Amino acid sequence: AARAAEALAVERVSVSFGELKAVREVSLRLPQGARHALIGPNGAGKSTLVGAITGAVSASGGRVLLNGEDLTRLGISARARRGLARTFQITSLFPEMTAIDSVALAIAEREGLTWRFLAPLGSRAAVMDEAREILEELGLADLLGRVVGELAYGHQRVMEIAIALASRPRVLLLDEPAAGIPAGESQRLFEVLERLSRDVTVLFIEHDMHLVRRFARRVTVLAAGQVLAEGTPAEVAADAGVRDAYLGT
Ligand code: ADP
Ligand code: MG
Repeated sequence: AARAAEALAVERVSVSFGELKAVREVSLRLPQGARHALIGPNGAGKSTLVGAITGAVSASGGRVLLNGEDLTRLGISARARRGLARTFQITSLFPEMTAIDSVALAIAEREGLTWRFLAPLGSRAAVMDEAREILEELGLADLLGRVVGELAYGHQRVMEIAIALASRPRVLLLDEPAAGIPAGESQRLFEVLERLSRDVTVLFIEHDMHLVRRFARRVTVLAAGQVLAEGTPAEVAADAGVRDAYLGT
């Protein structure tokens, strides 16, 4: 019998910006429920690769498959509808909205409901209940009514994940979710990710090797747009080429 398709497969994807080959024939395979880290020095092409997966960046070659379905020719919103969600290296929240409204808005978008039509349609209560559940699940139960722009930065990063989860993604792509937050809090943020259902497959970009060792089952190392190594955290940390190019030890 045929093997079940990977949740996410990236096959020899390349991206060029003019003369610059930012991503060169990169392949990744994430089985259902994977917790896969993407590491590498600044400028390695990590964010560009995530953009090529979501469709935000157009690839010059290769394929992206979600549960075996080829998404390569689809645009960013069609890919999102099929179950890809991402967070950004820099937060992209609406600072004036409350936490619960921010998540409710994302749920409404998923359902194709316009925010101002929610109440008349009678869907508002269901949407608010679901938003509350997502925030409680992520440990933000006490902050539902708080304005997002006034939350601690670490909580804002968790809000990004809450909004991404509101789309009910099959694959969640996180670009440095812990960037800019203190070490103790980043640990907590990753614990939130660890508790997510195995229905959600996670690819995350992360610089902190302690977090990578603790939370990733497998790691892909990019350098100058190419895959330098792939394996368990222990395997890549022991790889001489990786130590030279990245870890500096
Ligand atoms: P990383 O996330 O690994 O730090 P990036 O994917 O952001 O790296 O960038 C990879 C390379 O592509 C860098 O040299 C960067 O300057 C370049 N780059 C990224 N985005 C663009 C863009 N939109 N236009 C031109 N060059 C870009
Ligand atoms: Mg980046």
